[in-house]
This record gives sequence, C-alpha cells and structure tokens, in this order.
Amino acid sequence: MPNLRSYSFMGGLLDSIDIALCLFDADDRTLVWNDCFLRFFPEHAGRVHRGEAYRENLRRFYDSRLDGEERRHLDRYVEEGIARHRAQSRPFVFTHLDRRLRVASLPTPEGLRIRIWQHLHEEPQQMRAGGWDVFPIDLLDHIADGAMVLDQNDRIIATNNEFRILYDVPEGHSVIGATLQDVVRDAWAKVDQPERWTDGFVQDSLHFAGAPFEVELPAGRWRRVIARRTASGIGYFTHSDITELKRQQAALERALAELSAIAATDVLTGLANRRGFEKAISAAWHACGVAGTPVAVIIIDLDHFKAINDRFGHAAGDECLRRIADAVRSSVTRADDLAARHGGEEFAILLPNATAEEALAIGQGIRRSVRVEPWAQVHPDLNRLTVSMGICAVKSACEVDIDLAMRHADEALYRAKKRGRDRIEIQRA
Ligand code: GH3
Ligand code: MG
Ligand code: MG
Repeated sequence: MPNLRSYSFMGGLLDSIDIALCLFDADDRTLVWNDCFLRFFPEHAGRVHRGEAYRENLRRFYDSRLDGEERRHLDRYVEEGIARHRAQSRPFVFTHLDRRLRVASLPTPEGLRIRIWQHLHEEPQQMRAGGWDVFPIDLLDHIADGAMVLDQNDRIIATNNEFRILYDVPEGHSVIGATLQDVVRDAWAKVDQPERWTDGFVQDSLHFAGAPFEVELPAGRWRRVIARRTASGIGYFTHSDITELKRQQAALERALAELSAIAATDVLTGLANRRGFEKAISAAWHACGVAGTPVAVIIIDLDHFKAINDRFGHAAGDECLRRIADAVRSSVTRADDLAARHGGEEFAILLPNATAEEALAIGQGIRRSVRVEPWAQVHPDLNRLTVSMGICAVKSACEVDIDLAMRHADEALYRAKKRGRDRIEIQRA
C-alpha cells in the first residue's frame, strides 16, 4: 500500500490554490481526493469512497451530465472515459457545471495515477453571431508568429503586426476584408513576377484545417501556415518564416543527389559504375518490359589486359581503360542508352529499344575506334589493343528477365574469347 499521507498533504496544499486532486491506484480505484475536487464535482460529495472504482466515479459524472437520448450511451461514455484516463499524457480542457476545467493526469513513479483540475477563469470571449466587437484583437500581438483570423468566407478579420512583416504589407495599408491570396499576390506584384504566383493554391490550402502548407514569396522566401477552424468556420492561422529551413532542405537535397551520383559513378572513367548500371538497367528493363519493346545489352572485355598491365605498368593500364571508356561513351548516343564500367576491365552497355542489328553496329563501331586509337601515346611500345564483346539482343523485354539477358551476354563474351578474341558474339533471346 503506498504511503497516502504525502498525497493527502499535497491535496490540502492544492486546495489552498483551488486545484482539485484525485489519486487512483494501478487498478483505477480511488485513493485520495481533496475538497476542491468535491467542489468541482459535487455529484461525488458523500458518495465517493476509498477503493471505489473509477468506473463508478465516471458513471456519476456522466449521469449528471447526459440527458435524454444521450443517456442511452452512458456505458460507452464510461468506457471511453476510462480509456482516456489510462492513456492521458497531455492536459485537456472541458466544461463541467459551467466551469471550464483543465485536467492534467500522469502516472506517479509508484505506478499510481494522479489527476489534477484547474478552473480556467479567463474564458475565451465567445463570438456572438454576426459580431466581432468582442474579439480580443490585442491578443494577436502577443503571439510571436504571424497570426491571421479569417471569417467563414476566408476574408481577413484580423492580423497581427508580425503577419504584416512576413507578407511585406506596407505601413498604413489595411488587409482587413482581403483574402490571404490577395496579400500574397500583392507581395509578388511588387517584384513584377506575377507569373511565379500560382493563383488558387493558397486559397485551396486554407480549407484543410490542421494541415500545414507552404507559401512562396519573392526572393526565395517561404512561409509555413497552419490553420485551426472553429465549428462555425472561423479560421485561426499562424504563419512562420521557414526560409532558412527551406534553404537548408534544398542544400541537403542537392548534397544527397550529388552523393548518390558519386556513388553511381566510376572514378577512373567517369562512366556509371556497376551499381549505377544495375539501378538504371532494372528501371529501363521494367519500362521496356511494360512496352514490350526490344532491348540489348553488350558486355565488352579487354583482351589480354593483364599482360598489358604487367608489361607497361598499372598507370598505363588505367590510361587504356580511360581511352576505351571514351570510345564506349562516344558510341552510345541515344538519350536512353547507358554505358558503364561494369568491372575491372569490363564495360557494359544497355540499349533500350535496340534490335540485334543495331546493337551489333554499335559494337562494331567501338571495335573500330579501339583499332584506330593511337595506343603508342600511352606507351611507345604499345601498338595494339583489342576488345571482345558479347551481346544479348532480346526481342521483347517482357519475355526475358535482366539476369538471364546478362548471363546470355556473358556467355556470348566467353565464346568470343574462346574463338580467338577481338570479335563479337551475339545471342538472340
Ligand atoms: P582476357 O582476354 O581473357 O580477358 O584476359 P585478361 O588478361 O584481360 O583477363 P584477366 O581477367 O586475366 O585480367 C584482367 C586484368 O585487368 C587484371 C587486372 O590487373 C586488370 N585490371 C582490372 N582493373 C584494373 C584497373 O582498374 N586498372 C588497371 N590498370 N588494371 C586493371
Ligand atoms: Mg574480364
Ligand atoms: Mg580481359
């Protein structure tokens, strides 16, 4: 049994500042309450007792509140009240016997649950039908963000000064009766860029209360707007400056795009690397597969390259790879074609929408370039370098998957090597 004396003491202390307290055990049974609790909830006076289930407490509470039709749902209200009691982590406000009460509830370290209620005396001024004379306009200037209140027709009823600053509203210019759209349009009109201003978006966004939206202003400035609507349709909006956030976001996106480009690029040749190739090929394959169009892949491998490395050194070998890469790159001309360094001394080309004949023509073009390359520039004794290729030409990408096509191209390459190198073998699928 927890020591209740300190909670009773706390209850007495809270009584002195008009805060109600009630303490429950882990099974939602009532343990301690103070006088203020009975004042706020007179229905419990003389009835609540130690050990009473919270369910009984709630039943009396709702019994005193619900009338007629609603009474039928009493059990549901009680169950929802218990669920709320167990889950509550943030204060909420409700009205009971004409008092607006804010209630906070948290579990204690001992596993009990404490609830406290505060009477909110500063009732927010009710809006009377048709009149705004009682609206506490001054309140808005105590809000740090830009604040704006709209009527049911989305006309501005009130704003604070921060709002005027955020939207470049000139001194002495009234925005009352205007729409937010008017205000934003005026901001763009000042810089003579009305075409940047997409009419309608702002006005449309106003109607999703609670969903934040962003408004662009001239000079790369951004505002974030969040709305709350009352049941009668009055909108309360806050506006904040998110220019810096947007700038950082854009910088981050650029950095990420750069990083992923770097991750997909081969450093030596500047072509896509294997990773970039695999990403591109699966997307392209999917597109060709959907369209049922042909597609071809070419795998190119340098002949006896190990011997070149051994004889002329690794740096010379690298220069050879760069020159072959250039030959591959310049043979791949259509926008959707993709050339990549697929491995150490192996290149791959993806040719969407290419027939076997077209792929063969491209392969022969590369072989020609390699043959006429002035290899002696790399090393005076290097007078010849050849490549072998395997092509897989697929009639319809929806019938053969990428892996099989790559395997076919690899097998064709193997045949080219076996049949003497410096040649192209083709596999149709
Ligand atoms: P084959 O005609 O059968 O393809 O013979 P090969 O010598 O070209 O093939 P092998 O697989 O035996 O050797 C490939 C060589 O490619 C070995 C390796 O030193 C070289 N190589 C791979 N990557 C690089 C690179 O980045 N730079 C240089 N310089 N050489 C590389
Ligand atoms: Mg190889
Ligand atoms: Mg090789």
